[in-house]
Amino acid sequence: MAALLLCARKALLPGSLRRLHTVYQMAELPETHEMLRQTCRDFADRELCPIAAQLDKEHRYPAEQVQKMGAMGLMAVEVPEQFGGAGLDYLAYAIGVEEISRGCASTGVVMSVNNSLYLGPVLKFGSEEQKQQWITPFTTGEKVGCFALSEPGNGSDAGAASTVARLEGDHWVLNGTKAWITNSWDASATVVFATTDKALKHKGISAFLVPMPTAGLSLGKKEDKLGIRASSTANLIFEDCRIPRGNLLGQPGMGFKIAMQTLDSGRVGIAAQALGIAQAALDCAVNYAEKRTAFGAPISKMQGIQFKLADMALALEGARLLTWRAAMLKDNGKPYTKEAAMAKLAASEAATLISHQAIQVLGGMGYVTDMPAERHYRDARITEIYEGTSEIQRLVIANQVLKDYRC
Ligand SMILES: Cc1cc2nc3c(=O)[nH]c(=O)nc-3n(C[C@H](O)[C@H](O)[C@H](O)COP(=O)(O)OP(=O)(O)OC[C@H]3O[C@@H](n4cnc5c(N)ncnc54)[C@H](O)[C@@H]3O)c2cc1C
Repeated sequence: MAALLLCARKALLPGSLRRLHTVYQMAELPETHEMLRQTCRDFADRELCPIAAQLDKEHRYPAEQVQKMGAMGLMAVEVPEQFGGAGLDYLAYAIGVEEISRGCASTGVVMSVNNSLYLGPVLKFGSEEQKQQWITPFTTGEKVGCFALSEPGNGSDAGAASTVARLEGDHWVLNGTKAWITNSWDASATVVFATTDKALKHKGISAFLVPMPTAGLSLGKKEDKLGIRASSTANLIFEDCRIPRGNLLGQPGMGFKIAMQTLDSGRVGIAAQALGIAQAALDCAVNYAEKRTAFGAPISKMQGIQFKLADMALALEGARLLTWRAAMLKDNGKPYTKEAAMAKLAASEAATLISHQAIQVLGGMGYVTDMPAERHYRDARITEIYEGTSEIQRLVIANQVLKDYRC
């Protein structure tokens, strides 16, 4: 598998990247990405599909599978080889997250948070020394990171952060609570956002790198969630937590910018996670419809079922093209804020719709845990909430559309 990733990486040298500009206009991926997709799909079929229901039931972190994904390069897809990553592009990352999430949506979010929310900002804003220290150990799947922006009092309004950091000699001292932090119980580090100058409002927010565990940082209870139950979610509580001065990421006051840019790329990952959940729900519905008979015929022959399958496939494939487009814009260094929001909105709403319809196609069997449809339905819901709710995605899209018309 590692060899396949190596092969895909070689084929992604600059000359061939140009080819990717137009991929979204076609229905297919380049051969290299198709190979990567197949590798990830085989892994998901073999390692994740058989245990996803159990992981969900037991709220169990998939440590062994995450380590195998690390060995395949999937925990640091975009990180250059010099820091221990796979050195692939963002389209490859989106494809990987989709296939992993098709097997297990919880494992998909563990991968997505480590790649885009933790490693992403360190790669983009970290110093050379910080990259060595905070990236390389997080590429193998043995250690994962998290991203702490939301607070109990503010999620969508991230600029209203009440967690504070003050400089005392050679240390920053952090106080406050971060809420809903994915990977928290399993993480070895976090990027955390705290106000260093309240008067400057969101321009007074800074980003920090904090090792976990560390004195002055405690974890809240593991949240008992509707879906993605094999990933941990908890509060991070900072009480006079002292970290070295050098753990500031970027410049003082850059935190809000770092958070917003990180969320742009993170949204492509969540779009991909939603695609994986949606694909799994559609697979489940089609398989069932072909086998289940009613009134003397397979239900897949009935127009009412066929219309549902058509709507599901349409929503899925449209969202996938938007997701690939956003990933490729990022790969090509073009603005992609609007496109990432569109991809996340379309893919998360597709996942909600498709998983809902899959339950209807399965009838009673859709409602019980013997079949995966009910898990897909529960897992899909979060993709409309984290990394910006659907309402926030619409605001982002509308802002960009109005800006485009006004200039
Ligand atoms: C399982 C899970 C994992 C998470 N992981 C992380 C993580 O790793 N790191 C992290 O930092 N955060 C994480 N979050 C937090 C998540 O990003 C927030 O829950 C989300 O941004 C919404 O914030 P909120 O819950 O405070 O809702 P609120 O912001 O209070 O919103 C409540 C409702 O009001 C709507 N609303 C708010 N403002 C507007 C507006 N201006 N216009 C229209 N509607 C609006 C929202 O869309 C929503 O419907 C996670 C959350 C969950 C549930």
